[in-house]
Amino acid sequence: MAEYPHLMAPLDLGFTTLKNRVLMGSMHTGLEETGDWNRVAEFYAERARGGVSLMVTGGIGPNKEGGVAAGAAAMLTQKDIENHSVVTDRVHKAGGKIAMQILHAGRYAFNPDCVAPSPIKSPISLFQPTELDEEGIEKQIADIAAAAVRAKDAGYDGVEIMGSEGYLLNEFLVTHTNKRTDDWGGSYENRMRLPVEVVRRTRAATGSDFIIIYRLSMIDLIPNGSTHEEVVQLAQAVEKAGATIINTGIGWHEARIPTIATSVPRAAFSWVTKKLMGKVSIPIITSNRINTPEVAEDVLATGCADMVSMARPMLADAYFVNKAEAGKGWQIAPCIACNQACLDHTFGGKLSSCLVNPRACNETELAVNKAAAAKTVAIVGAGPAGLSVALTAAERGHSVTLFDKADEIGGQLNMAKQVPGKEEFWGLVDWYKAMVADLGIEVKLGHEVGADELLDFDEVVIATGVVPRDPEIPGQDGANVLSYIDVLRGKAPVGDKVAVIGAGGIGFDVSEYLVYGDNSPTENLPEWMAEWGVTDPAKHRGGLAPEGPQPHAPARAVTLVQRKATKHGKGLGKTTGWIHRASLKMMDVNFVGGVNYERIEEGGLMVSFGEARENPTLIEADTIVLCAGQVSERSLADALIAKGITPHVIGGADVAGELDAKRAIDQGTRLAATL
Ligand code: FAD
Ligand code: NAP
Ligand code: SF4
Repeated sequence: MAEYPHLMAPLDLGFTTLKNRVLMGSMHTGLEETGDWNRVAEFYAERARGGVSLMVTGGIGPNKEGGVAAGAAAMLTQKDIENHSVVTDRVHKAGGKIAMQILHAGRYAFNPDCVAPSPIKSPISLFQPTELDEEGIEKQIADIAAAAVRAKDAGYDGVEIMGSEGYLLNEFLVTHTNKRTDDWGGSYENRMRLPVEVVRRTRAATGSDFIIIYRLSMIDLIPNGSTHEEVVQLAQAVEKAGATIINTGIGWHEARIPTIATSVPRAAFSWVTKKLMGKVSIPIITSNRINTPEVAEDVLATGCADMVSMARPMLADAYFVNKAEAGKGWQIAPCIACNQACLDHTFGGKLSSCLVNPRACNETELAVNKAAAAKTVAIVGAGPAGLSVALTAAERGHSVTLFDKADEIGGQLNMAKQVPGKEEFWGLVDWYKAMVADLGIEVKLGHEVGADELLDFDEVVIATGVVPRDPEIPGQDGANVLSYIDVLRGKAPVGDKVAVIGAGGIGFDVSEYLVYGDNSPTENLPEWMAEWGVTDPAKHRGGLAPEGPQPHAPARAVTLVQRKATKHGKGLGKTTGWIHRASLKMMDVNFVGGVNYERIEEGGLMVSFGEARENPTLIEADTIVLCAGQVSERSLADALIAKGITPHVIGGADVAGELDAKRAIDQGTRLAATL
């Protein structure tokens, strides 16, 4: 019997059958906007080859006013149909099915012509929307149905109508954004008229043999959001109107509760979908933070849904489903839900990729082919940079030896995984371990390499990473001072009152480690829900607990200090920085900025302010932790160069500034593709 029987079971939709229960959820990768339809097609075709039964494209606008931004992908013309046909053809040839998501962004559109039920600007928008009149509403319905017909003409197997996340259809549903007094506002029947009418008209326009997925917001996580009863009422109406499948949407974009970040527990919202099971007779899909076949199987086996949507995991590993089906789950590169190369890129106006898999969205650009001649390759440093060279070089047929002076592979990832809310890093290190073994890479651990050992290899890669920067603060040699390494490696006891020096990524992580102690809400769903104030939408509208966030008491009193006067955490991830800031605020961490470090003394950290070093202040602390950045560890590279050998230097050993695992892995993979 298959290892994941529920996940691998076919799903009969009547007019067509899906070969398994895995949907690749919609992701706005930016690919469609490149205009390179070969590249778009290869991205989806690779995932079809990887075994996913049905994919949903990124959001495609049905008209100009509904596009997410000016120049966003749309389905408006014969040319659009021809372009999208390249994608659907390639996917079908690869044995897959694909639906086009129709996304009308409503008031979230980054567009002065955006429209909404009422003229209320969202807290995350620049533009106030224009209130739609009766004619305008009719136009939106007609445009969505017409886009669905064009999608069918382009060869899509269906469409997903985006009805969640706070976009147009969702905006009509709730009084938070719908203040209308006509037939499209007021009672819930009136407010749900637009989504239901959109589904009805789309079905009428596309015929019976076409998949219509309706993405329904099951927990809005905003004030005055829908109740569970309203969700059920809408789901039943949408089924009656002709939907084939209902997909789950969780939270509006403006919600101040994380829904997919790495600190969100796995499958944190599948209980929300489960509440709808049995209330409609069409299949229901659940989503959010499902990233392994085990979690997906469990979600299905426990009756939370008929099907599982995974989006980012398909960036991390296009062959997720095939590997699971073959019983080789350990080979699946895990999505660690960091958002660093996917959503952060999207919101930064860049093409998406994946921290773990730089080939994602670069399928036509970053080829990994068998090497013309096998070489011996020495890699020093088994952090993410060295590991990614090792894996790709071995895949290409090279004979790889990987050295690290530590007793385990992973480099700094082994510190990252200790941070509450970053437990996914354990899975990443485990995956590297499994792949190193699978690919027959020779690993020499506990081995500090000298230059002479490297002379006989065809290629030498130095990936020795970084060492902590010396901040040169008087008193830093005292017994009350620790580095982040001492703390995260659990080498030294930490007092109850702590000052953390440096508010970069590591300063934030160390602060979270210190305030959460052994108690990570990410590992405990009820506690995580209480921390963020999430509750059952059957009890309270939108699933917001009336008492608000109820975090547990901090394990320590922490002050996070930086020299910059700017907002703490300004350089953190675009889509996750606010979560780290909010977490630390909830745990009463004191943010102090704009300081000069005067000295460290027994009672704490003495700082002053301004160029004139005024206002000397003692930040009382039993322990001071240094997180003052890092510098490259290049001694081995320099020793080799002195011997006339030019190694490849990558990751932190190359450039320490603004280093992260994304850059380290990308650089390593790209180097290995050329060796
Ligand atoms: P490293 O990971 O530092 O690896 C270098 C390796 O070389 C080490 O294992 C070391 O033992 C070995 N080595 C050095 N000299 C020798 C020698 N002479 N002989 C043998 N071995 C040697 N990045 C992100 O992108 N996202 C995050 O969320 C994130 N969180 C983090 C949290 C923490 C707490 C920390 C500390 C880092 C975090 N990072 C994060 C940063 C990320 O881990 C680093 O950018 C990345 O590990 C750098 O990769 P690297 O391979 O260049 O170096
Ligand atoms: P960082 O982000 O560069 O932060 C270093 C901090 O140290 C800064 O806040 C800086 O603030 C301070 N600093 C710099 N020079 C100093 C000096 N001479 N004396 C005292 N303070 C000094 O580096 P990091 O925190 O070490 O993180 C390393 C890398 O890991 C980062 O590039 C980051 O991207 C990555 N990382 C990422 C994540 C993530 O979640 N994505 C998490 C952890 C780490 P002031 O100059 O204002 O004092
Ligand atoms: Fe997952 Fe991070 Fe890759 Fe995005 S960048 S797909 S969140 S691992």
